[in-house]
Amino acid sequence: MKRVYLDYASTTPTDERVVEAMKPYFSEKFGNPTSFYSFAQEAKEAVDKARTEVAGLINAKPDEIIFTSSGTEACNLAVKGTAFRNKNKGKHIIASSVEHFAVLESLKWLEKHGFEITYLPCDKSGIVKPEAIEESIRDDTILISVMHANNEIGTLEPIKEMAEIAEEKDITFFSDACISNGLVDIDVEELGVDLLALSAHKMYGPKGIGALFIAKGTGIEPLIHGGGQERRLRSGTENVPSIVGFGKAADIAKKEMKSYVLGMEILRNYLIEKVLRIESTKLNGHPEKRLPNNANFNFAFIEGEGLILELDFSGISASTGSACSSPTLEPSHVLTSIGLPHEEVHGSLRITLGRETKKEEIDYLIDNLPGTVERLRRISPFKGGFDDYVKGTEWKGGHKHV
Ligand SMILES: *Cc1c(COP(=O)(O)O)cnc(C)c1O
Repeated sequence: MKRVYLDYASTTPTDERVVEAMKPYFSEKFGNPTSFYSFAQEAKEAVDKARTEVAGLINAKPDEIIFTSSGTEACNLAVKGTAFRNKNKGKHIIASSVEHFAVLESLKWLEKHGFEITYLPCDKSGIVKPEAIEESIRDDTILISVMHANNEIGTLEPIKEMAEIAEEKDITFFSDACISNGLVDIDVEELGVDLLALSAHKMYGPKGIGALFIAKGTGIEPLIHGGGQERRLRSGTENVPSIVGFGKAADIAKKEMKSYVLGMEILRNYLIEKVLRIESTKLNGHPEKRLPNNANFNFAFIEGEGLILELDFSGISASTGSACSSPTLEPSHVLTSIGLPHEEVHGSLRITLGRETKKEEIDYLIDNLPGTVERLRRISPFKGGFDDYVKGTEWKGGHKHV
């Protein structure tokens, strides 16, 4: 069967060149970078080189990069590390309501420990208004967290404007760039952020490795204590092969981003144009201020899970923000935050393209989608949906799973 992977926001394959770069560090160059003898120095130099490469991707200095076990850990370190360091100064945190769970769950945990969180609303396209931040700032605000781009609807946030406001008030500003790294030019100096989280596996690096950019002078408390690696901010023997892989992936992204992003964007726009021809279909997120590989659609009257399953039968891998596919059985907080009504939240489909996505693959999806959507609409249980179904049943409308 044909296999078409269109869920690159979930994860990407590891670039062959990255795999090759990693290989020696599993075997012949297996030294522990913290050891003193010359054999280990090889590993240390490789980690240093990777640090320079990751820093280079976002215009940071190498000593402002701390490697972590994932993007999730980088977000935890940013949020909790800032909270603990500044708890005597204040216990108020401002965050957007569309943050990734790595940030939201960290905040929820902090709430249990006496911190107070103000969640910022966003507009219909997912953009957080900088003025909303200004209004929420208090004397005891110690952290502002707004993601660089949204992983579901792809919306790019006005980070520079928000970071400026934080800077004026001397509040630490954190941005989660785990989904935009490798897709958008990120310059931490220009953005003016204090903290920025990165994840390798969303940009053709290996899984299980991330990094936190910590601007010089930004105070942060470590969460993992031990041997004092990573400038005492993240103890634990360095994951040398993955760090090397992350470095290589960053280097490739920096050199090749311009060309692959252009191709992705053209294909993505072609996809959007074709899919919006299907009746009662909308594009979620911002029409222009969005990641170049992201398309998030809304098909009225159907359920995302059904759509994902049907597409899977045709060999297509995609994602939904609908309820049953999430571990909490709650519909996507991002889709509810942008104000989608109940029945629309359930009919969402996220398509994310990769560097190797071909036009044939997009065409295959475009050929499959209208028929699939129509079939699902015919059996839709939604009120106001397809009458021929509703009439013949006792179903009085609403959603089955509620
Ligand atoms: C994937 C992702 C993360 C988590 O990164 P992992 O490396 O998978 O732990 C955090 N934030 C956003 C926006 C993401 O897309």
